[in-house]
This record gives sequence, structure tokens and C-alpha cells, in this order.
Amino acid sequence: MKITVLGSGSAYGAPMAFNTWCGTNPAEPKNHRLRPSILIEKNGKKIIVDAGPDFREQTCRAGLKDVDAIFLTHGHYDHIGGIPELPRAATMLGHPIEIYGSEETLAEVRSCYAYLFREHGEPEKEGLRWITLPDEGKFEACGLEFETFQVRHHRLHPSAFKIDNFAYITDWAALPDEAYKYLQNLDLLMVECNNGMVHEENGHSDLPLILERMPKITAKHVALCHITCEVDYNDFVKHMPEGFTLCYDGISFEL
Ligand SMILES: [Zn+2]
Ligand SMILES: [Zn+2]
Repeated sequence: MKITVLGSGSAYGAPMAFNTWCGTNPAEPKNHRLRPSILIEKNGKKIIVDAGPDFREQTCRAGLKDVDAIFLTHGHYDHIGGIPELPRAATMLGHPIEIYGSEETLAEVRSCYAYLFREHGEPEKEGLRWITLPDEGKFEACGLEFETFQVRHHRLHPSAFKIDNFAYITDWAALPDEAYKYLQNLDLLMVECNNGMVHEENGHSDLPLILERMPKITAKHVALCHITCEVDYNDFVKHMPEGFTLCYDGISFEL
């Protein structure tokens, strides 16, 4: 299995609009961050987690020619902003695109993009297959076994995903006690660390908060992603504990 970070940034990317760098070094390529997304490749299947506003650029940069499924974590713009491009992408690929999301997430998508769900054969509706995920438990996608569980983030409950000994959690202000059972004996845990070393009550996590959770988690390796523009790669990487990696766009992990 191979995991590739298509976007290591947070909601507004880095730089943010109007070339805003928030004090970080523009000359460091690892400070250039597209919106959060990862690619999971296993047994020849390709699954993209989240389709944010950089979806087009991310699939092009990664040299992707096809996708087998898209998983959505939750209904915020940085995770679903690319969805309106998918009907056209499905036409070009020549097959429907399966999109998996929880009931809550698909309701958010439906309210944002009502025209994608209208009946009577509007072209935008063609080519997408919406599949409702359980809030918790096992599910199958393109012949692969996954597990999902939910975390807390503002009023939303983002879906986290686990396959084999890899788990991915984004946008987590809090982790419910019942979720820890999914985070045992992992080879790689990839998690949102939006705020770097700074604790803010903004629906996201930071390294000190993640380290508080680690005693109840067993993972050989932890990778931090969904990093805000305010975090400078070379400053933050100095704080990485043993076994932790700070992600950047394009980094990949073989498991
Ligand atoms: Zn986000
Ligand atoms: Zn979010």
C-alpha cells in the first residue's frame, strides 16, 4: 500500500489568497501547501480522500489518469470544493465516480451543490454514484476492506478512515473515547495538526494536543498534515518527536 499526500495544507492553502505567507518563508518549497487530500493506492486501486478546491491541480500534479473511489471526510469547503468538477471528470474517464460520505457529509454536499442532485437528467447529475457510509464500522470500496469512525470538529463529525494498519484523521478538535479502539497497532497514523505548536479553540488540533492523545494510541509512525499557512516547515519540524513526520505536498509512505 502507498499513501501520498496530495495536499498538506489547511482550509485556505499556503500561500493564502493574494500571495499571503503569514510570515513563513516563500523560498521553502515545503511551505507551499495545497488543500488537504491524500491518495491511497492498494492492489492497483486508487482512492482519493477529499476533493477540495485544488482537486484539479492535485490530480494533474500526481499524474493520475483515473480514480476508483473518492471518500469525503466532511462538508467543509477545503474538503468538498472540487466536487462540481467531478461530473465532467467522470465523462472524460468514461465511467461513473463513486463518492463515499456519511449521511451528515452527503447532506452538507447536497445543500451546497443542489444542482448536482436534481432529477430529470441534468448533465451535472450524470456520472456520480453517491454511497452513504456508516457512522462507524466496516465498509467495502472497490474490493478493499475499510473501517470508519467519527471525530468532533465544530458542529460536524468528520469521518476517519482505516485500512490495514493505516489510519487517517482530519479536522479533529476532539477524539471520542470509542474511537481509540481503531487506533491500535498502526504502522502509520496520519492526522490533522492544523495549528502546529499553538493551541487555539478553532475546531482543530495542535502537536501538544496530539501528544496528550498518544498514550492511548499505538502507532509506529505519526504523520502530521492539514497544516495552516502560519506554520513554517523548518521551524515546526524542529519540534517533531521521534517517530513523527511533518508532511508536505507530494510526500509518500510505503506500507
Ligand atoms: Zn479542513
Ligand atoms: Zn473542516
